[in-house]
Parts: sequence; structure tokens; C-alpha cells
Amino acid sequence: MSNASFSDRLVDRLAQAARVTVLTGAGTSAESGIPTFRDPDGLWEQFDPQELANVNAFLENPALVQGWYAHRRKLAQDTEPNPAHHALAQLEQHLDGFTLVTQNVDNLHQRAGSDDVVELHGNITRNHCIDCERSASDDEMEAIAEGEPARCPTCDGYIRPDVVWFGEMLPQEALQRAQEAATQAEVFLSVGTSAVVHPAAGLPLTAQQHGAYLVEVNIEDTALTDTADEILRGQAGAVLPPLAEAVATRRSTA
Ligand code: NAD
Ligand code: ZN
Repeated sequence: MSNASFSDRLVDRLAQAARVTVLTGAGTSAESGIPTFRDPDGLWEQFDPQELANVNAFLENPALVQGWYAHRRKLAQDTEPNPAHHALAQLEQHLDGFTLVTQNVDNLHQRAGSDDVVELHGNITRNHCIDCERSASDDEMEAIAEGEPARCPTCDGYIRPDVVWFGEMLPQEALQRAQEAATQAEVFLSVGTSAVVHPAAGLPLTAQQHGAYLVEVNIEDTALTDTADEILRGQAGAVLPPLAEAVATRRSTA
């Protein structure tokens, strides 16, 4: 099926599953006004994210990369979680064995009330010194003088965001939890992700190979569309709330 209305079978499966795993990507935050890497982002339009989000770019021009992250941090802090984030927090409340894995770094799932978020790519609200690893507060980051890189007050090292850059390893504990949750899932939802950035992109397929019912929520086709068992075509913020509501009702009347 390929429309935004979900099947009864999906509601049953979600309500009865011992393990449900969700993977979210940048599309989940798009309705909060946070651009994906494919959407043009006004101020920073002339830069390719791939050319900023890597350690070489950072070492070459730390102030530039810090400035891009300061901009993204402010966007995230100045916006609100959308109905998709809230619906996923609601599903966590109603289901046992629920694991939310995200590629997003914007902290919006946490702000929507999801308690236990597996952060595959880190979190933009945290920063640390690249030399002594001391964490740096927002205030210290805000103190950056125009064009000057923010440095560690203890050792003078550059301060970087706690995010995973292109070419870097994912945090091993988070990746392991995500892989376990994928392997054990009876239902796996892939929400607002183009499913091309590995290893996260492998999680839905791992889940399906281990027997999960694989559901895609996206506004357009992705690499996963051909393999998914059910496709919910539409905005995550429109598709997920009625689904979470239906699952909550099914659980309470079961
Ligand atoms: P992506 O940009 O590659 O793909 C976004 C997907 O979301 C697309 O398939 C698009 O069709 C879909 N989409 C857009 N709006 C949607 C909506 N309202 N509802 C449902 N789907 C929608 O994003 P990705 O797969 O997450 O990979 C990009 C990488 O960039 C990730 O590693 C992530 O860490 C990083 N990133 C994060 C943020 C964030 O934290 N909000 C923002 C931009 C990029
Ligand atoms: Zn330091």
C-alpha cells in the first residue's frame, strides 16, 4: 500500500509487539523548521554540509565550522518539537520494549519527552575540547569573538560539537544498542530518513532480515521504499499522531 493511512495490521502489530524500534532522520525535524542537508538553508546555502561536517574542515577553519554549528544550535533551540516528536514520545509511553534511535543531533526528541534516545550521531547541544576533552558550556561557546575560534579555557584547544562528522566512527555503545534493537524488533519504523548514510541506513534492513515488519514514513521514495512492508507516504507530523493514537486505543481496549 502506498498512502498515508496505515493498515489495521500495523496497529495490531505495534500494539502486540514485544520489541518496536524506530529510526528517525532529518525529515522528522523538518516540520519544526530545521532544514535537512538537502534543503537550502538561507545563510549557509553556499556551503555543502559534507564540506563543513568533517574534521579536516574544522582544523583548517575552526571558527567557520563552529559558526555553522552555532547557527544550527540556535535554530534547534529557537524551535519546538513537532507532532512527530510528540507522537514518538507517546508511543514510548504506551509500548514496552520501545527503542528510539535517531540520526538527528537537534535534541528535539529529548525535548518532546522521549526518555531513552539512542543518539547515533551525537547531540549539537554538547561541546568538548578536542585536546583535553573537557566539556564546554553554551556560555563558553557564545563567548566566541567574531572570526575567532572558541578555545578551551583549560588547555587552549579548539572546542568542537559532540557530533559525529563524515569519516568518523559512530559512538560504539549507541551503535551496538541500535543494532540489538534492530535485530530484536518485531516492527521497525524508518521515519524521515533518506536511508543512505551508513551504518544507520543498514538498520532497517537488518531488522527486516531478522523478521521485523518494516514500515517507512516519508514524503517521497527512498532507497528503502522497494523493500518496506508498508509505506506511509506523507509528513511525519501528519502520519504519526493518528498512528500513535490508534495504538494507544488498541492497547487500552485489549
Ligand atoms: P536526509 O536529509 O538525507 O533525508 C531526509 C529525508 O526526510 C528525505 O528522505 C526526505 O524525503 C524526508 N522528509 C523531509 N521532510 C519530511 C517530513 N516532513 N516527513 C517525513 N519525511 C520527510 O536526512 P538523514 O537521512 O537524517 O541523513 C542526513 C544526516 O544529516 C544525518 O546524519 C543527520 O545526522 C544529519 N542532519 C541532522 C539534522 C537534525 O538533527 N535535525 C538536520 C540535517 C542533517
Ligand atoms: Zn582542553
